[in-house]
Amino acid sequence: MRNAGAQQDVTVSQGVRVMFYMMKPNETSFQTLEEVPNYVEKATPFFISLMLLELIVSWIYKGKPPGRLDSALTSISAGVLSRLPSLFFRSIELTSYIYIWENYRLFTLPWDSIYTWYLTFLGVDFGYYWFHRMAHEVNIMWAGHQAHHSSEDYNLSTALRQSVLQMYTSWIFYCPLALFIPPSVYAVHLQFNLLYQFWIHTEIISSLGPLELILNTPSHHRVHHGRNRYCIDKNYAGTLIIWDRIFGTFEAENEKVVYGLTHPINTFEPLKVQFHHLLYIWTTFWTTPGFFNKFSVIFKGPGWGPGKPRLGLSEEIPEVTGKEIAFSSPASQLLKTYAIVQFALMLAFYEETFAYKTALSQITLLLRIGFIILTLTSIGFLMDQRPEAAIMETFRCLVFLVLCGFGHLKPFISCLSLTFETTVE
Ligand SMILES: [Zn+2]
Ligand SMILES: [Zn+2]
Repeated sequence: MRNAGAQQDVTVSQGVRVMFYMMKPNETSFQTLEEVPNYVEKATPFFISLMLLELIVSWIYKGKPPGRLDSALTSISAGVLSRLPSLFFRSIELTSYIYIWENYRLFTLPWDSIYTWYLTFLGVDFGYYWFHRMAHEVNIMWAGHQAHHSSEDYNLSTALRQSVLQMYTSWIFYCPLALFIPPSVYAVHLQFNLLYQFWIHTEIISSLGPLELILNTPSHHRVHHGRNRYCIDKNYAGTLIIWDRIFGTFEAENEKVVYGLTHPINTFEPLKVQFHHLLYIWTTFWTTPGFFNKFSVIFKGPGWGPGKPRLGLSEEIPEVTGKEIAFSSPASQLLKTYAIVQFALMLAFYEETFAYKTALSQITLLLRIGFIILTLTSIGFLMDQRPEAAIMETFRCLVFLVLCGFGHLKPFISCLSLTFETTVE
């Protein structure tokens, strides 16, 4: 158990084990929130290593990569976008929790007890199950979750396809824990629960035998990502599949799963991937007659319509044949190579921004965030081969030069920079 002090470092062994929730209570119990390591921020090398491992295993056993490059870039873009607010704010999942803990807690469980640790593990996973279930059953919450389901491939990069909006609804489901569980214990398990869900996004692991009874596994989560009728609204688990078994939402994997949204959006534009469903709700809201119907558009299931049951009609879900062709970028190989290089440079820049976030001024941080969003959008335009793609990319290059000139970016070619914030040099 750790006493007060600075944020703890994460060792390589812990970095690997945390991806599988294989952490011991005595190494991950902290007295204060300030000591809790940012496991998610430190997970990038492990994400990359596991994705490379998946690529190698897939080449060896299947003779092909685990997915398409355009889809993987879009997924990682979503991961990047979803982390950008944390450059400025503590997440709403933590802020709301701390507020309830400080003002309304009923009693205080000891932060250094093994029982508190295991109870929080169960509590966070239970909260996640209900959040995730509601995210599929309430249209406005689905708008903040659907991005994660928009990939037509299923591989480790799909796990990174996170929604920017999701945390603005998920926090509600963890509030009851704040009545008795210290924030430092909650902050640890919130991260572990998220990181555990990375490795289950793969097709290279078929079945895990008896573990399938208790744990959420690649097989169970493949069903969750399916658009086959038997897969819809099933397997909401985070770490433990027991919640689905208890509450009647479990479905085992049987016929081949076809991944993605029931109505694919056919785009690699990161902002459209994130927000298109909000626009759809807005339009449906105004075109649906009657006050109660409008209310239902927001709070009933995404498949609901006037006269239909709360979660819509399963026969309206397009039948899959197994011969669906996933949306692919029409861009040339040369253009895709260019996009990868720009994407890799953006990732290096993104990592650097996080590493120096406390040393950079607010305005530099804002400009850097703007540049990252612009880069991701431009790459999306290139991948979609939109007519405006060339203008957008030229504009982005100009913005890059201007930001370098004014010292808000540190280019890899140093002569492009006239000055740079002295705190970072
Ligand atoms: Zn889901
Ligand atoms: Zn998933």
